[in-house]
Amino acid sequence: MMTASLAQTHARISWPDRTLIIAVVLLSSIFPVELFSNTPPAPKGFDGQYSGKQGQVLVVKLKGIEKATEVNGTFLKRTIPFFREFRSGEPDGYIGLLGIDMQDEPGTYELAVEVKQGEQAKQLSFNVLVAKENFIVEHLKLPKEKVDLDEKGAARWKTEQEQVKQALEDNSRLKLWHSNFVEPVNGKRTGIFGSVRIMNGKPRNPHNGEDIGAPLGTDVAATNDGIVRITVDHIFSGKGVFIDHGLGFYSMYFHLSEILVKDGDLVTAGQIVGKVGATGRATGPHLHWGVKLNGARVNPYSLLDLPFKNGLIPADRLATPTPEATPDSQAIPVKE
Ligand SMILES: [Zn+2]
Repeated sequence: MMTASLAQTHARISWPDRTLIIAVVLLSSIFPVELFSNTPPAPKGFDGQYSGKQGQVLVVKLKGIEKATEVNGTFLKRTIPFFREFRSGEPDGYIGLLGIDMQDEPGTYELAVEVKQGEQAKQLSFNVLVAKENFIVEHLKLPKEKVDLDEKGAARWKTEQEQVKQALEDNSRLKLWHSNFVEPVNGKRTGIFGSVRIMNGKPRNPHNGEDIGAPLGTDVAATNDGIVRITVDHIFSGKGVFIDHGLGFYSMYFHLSEILVKDGDLVTAGQIVGKVGATGRATGPHLHWGVKLNGARVNPYSLLDLPFKNGLIPADRLATPTPEATPDSQAIPVKE
């Protein structure tokens, strides 16, 4: 029966139709693409633009995208995974959190986004204007042995760096955070994220987190839900906790006097993970709070300003770009 119906279908194609099919097949092999479309590819940045300062986090929202199998952006060779967002009464969209590293050179760069829907892939392109942040210059005086490492100390430091690097490679591909971010310690923030540090007269690496002053033993809370990827006792950071919040998002808590979690523990936003201390290279009790977002060192306080409430972004805080948008309207400023 099957063979008979196939034969009938075949027989129904008339001679002029068959000639046309053969002609199209022949032509398309001679002019593979141009025969059907001569539209040039869209210029870079065609889908809109964003802007922000060094150390800020930008919320990038893609609207009008049906359920995709995978959405990933690339910005300055860093991968930005997008996640789906649901809001009642609105079409579903995808959101990506783009971190601008504190040392990204000011300029305009492309955020290229690939939206995969099954076998098909669609490319989107945004311009991101990175503006300079005026980081302060800090002069610090510390005992010589706390600044300059001897041979043994240098070897230990190298091993510790490698240990952290390996632990953080193993990041969760699921988004583990669900609510708004919380401040780990209610203390006086020093506002020295990104500061250029001159120690005992010599320039050092810029300060890659924020220091919060608080009395010894003050509770330190996880900024959001996540998994404790590694706990350490290192030469510079002292007793420290690294929390993986998923999709390349990490928060770090250093110089603790006590660690109250173990590697692999699941933690929730606000859960106490340790106590304020002065372990490692610290002049007094404080929390060093750091955040890494897909490899970019961002100001941890930019998390608190993210417009997430129970995992949703209020519509008035969303920057959905249009090709005409002015760059400055897209920035989500860091709290001064
Ligand atoms: Zn610090």
